[in-house]
Amino acid sequence: MQLYTRILLGMLLGVVLGVALGPGSVLLPADGLRPGDAPIVESRGSTTVPAATAGVNDVRVVSRSEGWAEVEWQLTAKQALELQRSGTRAEPGERHSGWVKLNPADPRQSTYSRFGQTLVDSTYWVGRLFLALIKMVVVPLVFCSLAVGVASLGDVRRLGRMGGRTLALFASTTVAALTIGVGLASLFRPGSFLGEDDRARLLASFSGDVGGKLEKAAAAPSLEDQLVGLVPTNPVDALASGDMLQIIVFATLVGIALTMMEEDRARPVVRVLDGINEAMVVLVHIAMQLAPFGVFALLFKVAGTTGLSVLVALGAYCLVVVSGLLIHATLVYGSIVTAGGKLPFLKFLGGIRPAMLVAFSTSSSSATLPVTKECVEEKLGVSNATSSFVLPLGATVNMDGTALYQGVAALFIAQIYGMDLTLGQQVTIVGSATLASVGAAGVPGAGMITLTMVLTAVGVPLEGLALVLGVDRLLDMFRTTVNVIGDSAATVLIARLEGEELQVLTPSADSADPDRGLEGRLSHPSQPVTADEDT
Ligand code: ASP
Repeated sequence: MQLYTRILLGMLLGVVLGVALGPGSVLLPADGLRPGDAPIVESRGSTTVPAATAGVNDVRVVSRSEGWAEVEWQLTAKQALELQRSGTRAEPGERHSGWVKLNPADPRQSTYSRFGQTLVDSTYWVGRLFLALIKMVVVPLVFCSLAVGVASLGDVRRLGRMGGRTLALFASTTVAALTIGVGLASLFRPGSFLGEDDRARLLASFSGDVGGKLEKAAAAPSLEDQLVGLVPTNPVDALASGDMLQIIVFATLVGIALTMMEEDRARPVVRVLDGINEAMVVLVHIAMQLAPFGVFALLFKVAGTTGLSVLVALGAYCLVVVSGLLIHATLVYGSIVTAGGKLPFLKFLGGIRPAMLVAFSTSSSSATLPVTKECVEEKLGVSNATSSFVLPLGATVNMDGTALYQGVAALFIAQIYGMDLTLGQQVTIVGSATLASVGAAGVPGAGMITLTMVLTAVGVPLEGLALVLGVDRLLDMFRTTVNVIGDSAATVLIARLEGEELQVLTPSADSADPDRGLEGRLSHPSQPVTADEDT
């Protein structure tokens, strides 16, 4: 079975089993309760313990009657210690029971399936392991392949031309994405579909989380600082902290320096970097073996914990975002790839399928980068020089999916607050969301944080973030996939403009050839069979 099919299966299983058997399961009994602020009364244990004081946020429901739940819990060592510190007599392992008044208006109070929670807790590590494996490769891969790529261009002017084209392309696709997003949100007004009750509930449920997002956004440096900050004063520090833009600048400069040196002095350095680059590629192949299980675990958790009720309440908003993303991908990337890249769009999508699936499951374009690079080089035939320049830059600054989502979210929140945005304000949204998407890192949830910039620019209340927070994780999967398609489409176009010959590797040719593509290498890692022998 092809890798792509196995990843897809893992994803589907993760979603289906997550909905069926996750903490928010539709099949299992909701026998766990997070009491929220409600005190647990009539305790029959040795002490009367209000849930909040004891730090108990997880109890077993024994029975329910008339708006009350009879609950039971066991003190953990940590909870007992906290109680002892506050002067209450308590022992670890001590059993308590009592009653909690169920309060549907308390957003922190929720019921869930304890079994489902245990399943998520015991499988999620596989997803984290997969993510860690591909993230491990990102920094050395970007540095080595970019330095080697620039060195192989052999000409600074060619680099300047490619850089100029790439940035112009990124800027224009982002503005196109925002125009689609803002246009759809003004046309369909998703904000008008959200009822008063849902609005109050969402604002209450997620307002606590907004503080953290705002703090992160406030820490964002000014534009000048960002510009100066592009140059790493300590490159080792940049590599260690994974600051992608600084790594790109450093690797590009090292590459340029290598082209300016005497050839026999530069060659050994290029060789070493190229060797490390190759080793990283092999590591990506190894990590991809775990991909089907990894994506299963990641999606099992997301599908199992996202409340369906939030999704229903925000259905119109989600629908506008997802349709906008689809339209953008089909129209804008479709024409870039077909007209500019001279590749059939569906075949192009077929080539980058593994990257799309990994992007969807991890919600991180940075973490997906090694897989994206592998796909465009191996399956579409883009050169290392082009892909190692365009892709890392794209994964950091080119986020059309994020920009589109920010445009829709800003309008949606404004509509809910009854603000009618003028055309001028909508243009401001386009401008600020372009910058906000550039500023967003390629990690999960980054677009949500820089959305604060957009809201501030047009004077929409920042608490409105609470309205869209509940479905952010879900929409992140879709927008990250579009971000990755966008980067790959840009790479294809730039490669064509650089005069490269591109060709999609068909699935059968890929599976047959152990020296090319993903499938062949994965399925015959230890038995080198040449294409000739195989055909
Ligand atoms: N998760 C997105 C990405 O990695 C960024 C975002 O929109 O939050 O591309």
